[in-house]
Amino acid sequence: MQVYGLVGNPVGHSLSPPMHEAAYEETGLDARYVTFEPDRDDIAAAVEGADALGVSGLNVTIPFKQDVLELVDPDPLAERIGAVNTVDFGGETPQGYNTDAAGVTRSFERHGVGLDGNAAVVVGAGGAGRAAAFALADAGASVHVANRTAETAVELAGGVPGATGGGLDTLDRIREADVLVNATSVGMESPDETPVPAEYLHGDLAVLDAVYTPLETRLLREAAAAGAVTIDGAWMLLLQGVEAFERWTGRDAPVDAMNAALRSHLESD
Ligand code: NAP
Repeated sequence: MQVYGLVGNPVGHSLSPPMHEAAYEETGLDARYVTFEPDRDDIAAAVEGADALGVSGLNVTIPFKQDVLELVDPDPLAERIGAVNTVDFGGETPQGYNTDAAGVTRSFERHGVGLDGNAAVVVGAGGAGRAAAFALADAGASVHVANRTAETAVELAGGVPGATGGGLDTLDRIREADVLVNATSVGMESPDETPVPAEYLHGDLAVLDAVYTPLETRLLREAAAAGAVTIDGAWMLLLQGVEAFERWTGRDAPVDAMNAALRSHLESD
């Protein structure tokens, strides 16, 4: 039996276990997915211990994504983003990936939204914003990052090819954009809040909200009313998990089964 898992603190409410267990059931893979909650100081011992015990792969979440970057061989994208959320122990040394990036690009692909040559605005410059900005630029989009703390956006944009950055006063760039990602926590557990004035939303836009509690945020409601394509945060969560499954197993992930498990847990929460 293979063991996969999630390391974070806290991990109690994670949706990854049901999503990955559904994938094992659907594909007949003899595997289990468990959660680990080490103390902050113990993350190096935890990763080394997982490797020594024969754990096949780990997802990594808050607060360990940056710490784990230093503990594994990160691929170039994870290195540029500065965070690892997936570790594969299958090789000579543990390999680190950032599948949040693929979660963003695959969400747009799955909804028939092209990125190459299009203009993207990313609101937020934290972990999700960094992953989104690099992923969208690698997919050929021209990226503008707008963040409450403007300096963080400018600093992030400085490392992303062709990108620009600024404060929330630059959100009017959305008027000319094809793609918008909300990578702030605004709207999380607060259905009346939105990071983006509705007047900037329009019918030629595709909007991905990384927030998935609630699934229907005020941003997505207002984007739908403006005629935009809307993509909820469960897609990003699903497709980062799909990417991790595929990296770990070398097989195509059973996306529909994983999606059904994820959404049934989200809706029952
Ligand atoms: P993070 O690193 O803490 O970054 C938070 C970001 O939100 C920062 O850019 C911060 O701006 C901004 N922000 C916070 N409060 C704000 C406010 N009141 N007004 C404007 N901006 C505000 O968090 P993260 O890990 O990137 O996560 C961000 C969101 O994405 C969370 O809701 C998380 O659940 C979600 N997420 C979803 C997925 C998925 O798979 N769907 C994956 C990763 C994250 P400052 O820099 O100015 O503080």
